[in-house]
Amino acid sequence: MNNARTPYFCIDADRLESNLRILRGVMDRTGCKILLAQKCFSCYGLYPLVAEYLAGATASGIFEARLWHEEGRGENHVFSPAFKEEDMDGIFAMCDHIDFNSPRQLALYGKRAKDAGLQVGLRINPECSTQEGHAIYDPCAPGSRLGTTAGEFFRAVAGTPLMELLDGIHFHTLCEQDSDDLEKTLDAVEERFGDILHRMQWINFGGGHHITRMGYDIPRLERCIRRMQEKYGLEVYLEPGEAVALNAGTLHSSVLEVQPEGGDGVQNVILDTSAACHMPDVIEMPYTPPLERVKGESVPLADGEDGKQYKYRFGGPTCLSGDVIGVYDMACTLTEGDEVVFGDMAIYSMVKTNTFNGMPLPDIYIKKGETLRFWKHFSYDDFKSRV
Ligand SMILES: *Cc1c(COP(=O)(O)O)cnc(C)c1O
Repeated sequence: MNNARTPYFCIDADRLESNLRILRGVMDRTGCKILLAQKCFSCYGLYPLVAEYLAGATASGIFEARLWHEEGRGENHVFSPAFKEEDMDGIFAMCDHIDFNSPRQLALYGKRAKDAGLQVGLRINPECSTQEGHAIYDPCAPGSRLGTTAGEFFRAVAGTPLMELLDGIHFHTLCEQDSDDLEKTLDAVEERFGDILHRMQWINFGGGHHITRMGYDIPRLERCIRRMQEKYGLEVYLEPGEAVALNAGTLHSSVLEVQPEGGDGVQNVILDTSAACHMPDVIEMPYTPPLERVKGESVPLADGEDGKQYKYRFGGPTCLSGDVIGVYDMACTLTEGDEVVFGDMAIYSMVKTNTFNGMPLPDIYIKKGETLRFWKHFSYDDFKSRV
């Protein structure tokens, strides 16, 4: 049934759809609007499915905005820490919401956006850190360039003509978090910006809501949404990326070589995939991706009870010593040619691949039921065309 050649991504359309159904449930019960954050998952072959369930998408700039304009349906939002003049006419023609990062950007482009018929928002920084550990994912960390603080807002926006341009407020401060952290963030937003919320039409809660993860507190999320709807009469937007495609894809690779154990009890395994090139978040975040299958068997991890454990360190065929995917305990041995499949590979993976070392990009397949549909092949030309 499957003659796909490794390495390749396989997007699971059924899992994607079950995530979309959960998000749609939140929309239906509360009347909020949920958008796909395209930067996380841009496989436009599935945009028609996403558009069936969600209200639209959000973009980090003109390319993503154009992709949704061409391949999606519904609302098209865009945010950037700073826009470029040469992109503005295109953005105004394709988007219906634009969120600015600073009073200066609002002053530069806000009036033209309004005249072009767009809704205009400003990203705020509620100065409320709720995440530990991942400072690079915390827009409220000291020195952040993302969002306008209350101090800056009341100095440069409130009471000036810029205020008349604003239809809504945007914040994005979470990353893989539950709704208790959203609740805390809303307290900070109300405390610092409560005075102006009555004058807005909408509020955008950004992304980072892990809504489709097992155990996420959806009722609390819905209370957060209703709170802003009822207290301030605001329309509420959410723009998750991860939650849309969580656990909705795999990365398939093959063992190229198993090296002898080198004294630390771990054997190095070289795969035809690479952390650095195909799953950079493994190094950037960092995290160890779950193993989904090995040699066609699911969950091959040793439970420690059946005596022998094999420890393997999976790495890529690149020059980078740190191109390590992780160390895994397994109950079976590996040999050349064995298939190794990593889980949760639809998010922040295909959008981040690169061809460092001339690594081939993984092909992309889309799985629906038992059917594997070929979507994209990448070749030498894709490498050559970039350099
Ligand atoms: C990254 C980002 C998102 C999506 O975040 P997830 O963690 O993937 O849910 C949404 N909005 C903005 C402004 C972002 O930067």
